[in-house]
Amino acid sequence: MRTVSEDYYEILGVPRTASQEEIKRAFRRLAKQYHPDVYKGDKKEAERKFRKIAEAYEVLSDPVKRAQYDRFGHVGPEQTVDFGAEGFQRTREAFEEFFGPSAFEEIFNLFFGEGRRARPVSRARRGEDLEYRVRITLEDAAYGTTLRATIPRYEPCRACGGTGLAPGTGLRSCPTCRGSGRIEYRQFSVFGTFVNVRTCPECEGVGEIPEAPCPVCRGSGRVRERSEMALEIPAGVEDGALLVLPGRGNAGLAGGPAGDLHVLVEIQPHPVFARQGPDLWVEVPVHYGTLVLGGRIRVPTLEGEEVVEILPGTEPQTVLVLRGRGLPGPRGKGDLRIRLRVVIPKKLGLKERALLSAFTEKLPPPDPPRRPDV
Ligand SMILES: [Zn+2]
Ligand SMILES: [Zn+2]
Repeated sequence: MRTVSEDYYEILGVPRTASQEEIKRAFRRLAKQYHPDVYKGDKKEAERKFRKIAEAYEVLSDPVKRAQYDRFGHVGPEQTVDFGAEGFQRTREAFEEFFGPSAFEEIFNLFFGEGRRARPVSRARRGEDLEYRVRITLEDAAYGTTLRATIPRYEPCRACGGTGLAPGTGLRSCPTCRGSGRIEYRQFSVFGTFVNVRTCPECEGVGEIPEAPCPVCRGSGRVRERSEMALEIPAGVEDGALLVLPGRGNAGLAGGPAGDLHVLVEIQPHPVFARQGPDLWVEVPVHYGTLVLGGRIRVPTLEGEEVVEILPGTEPQTVLVLRGRGLPGPRGKGDLRIRLRVVIPKKLGLKERALLSAFTEKLPPPDPPRRPDV
């Protein structure tokens, strides 16, 4: 955990509206620039810059953390960032995508010396996060629902219990690095000969390899399956909400922890109700006479139709409020807001025309024009 003092967007040199792709590109460009193999300046300076870039990328590459950061200016309960675990893994993956496998390890070795590793290495790797989209009705969003979903994902291999090892076999020391996980190699330059250390490609730095891989999962410890899942959608969920279900993504490699399942919620437009946060809006056409004389109108609600009283002399565009008839929100249930619209009949019979004409002639002249509120 460390204190956040600088703006992540500034560190990466991207606008606040930058797409995930732009953020990735910026990270790649900067990581290359401050890579200790390339950077001509002070090594400590390169390390400091590189950490900042990695930290900014860790937060901005995660939609959930990014939203939290945009809103509160920091991630987590305090002004701190957890530069670890799963964020570390994501940064590492992004890094290795550009610079090749075990490049992240190497850069840490360069920064912190040969003797230290970025973290204890094991064969286990966290599983990938998965994204799943659901489309629900406004009613389901109002009351919450449980959806049955069939999601293709990796699950732990039952044949080997997720270890990736053939039954009855274990691990053996890696012959390539003789169990150290690292390989020394000499580099020649005008300044002399350097002994460099890189992660063993055979065992990926673990120092051990399986005696025999599990024949079912070919050593990965996981198999692809179609998983039946119940997805709990909470009442009051917003359109476009991202629900994070921890540990329900892909199973990890070689017994590593599973990734998360990200459920993206889309709410179908409702034929009658518009939504504004926890509030619902509905427009109800009313006859002129009802507004003038008062009366009762039928109003749709999420729970069914309701009769609402209109007072005599009600103006068109008046908004009536039924308290607590909206959706659950952070401050309790929202309201149902009913906007009254006056109906102007387009086709009138001769009799109705005569009646309305006689009625209009009896009315006093309307008020004089006035300055509107604009
Ligand atoms: Zn090895
Ligand atoms: Zn297996």
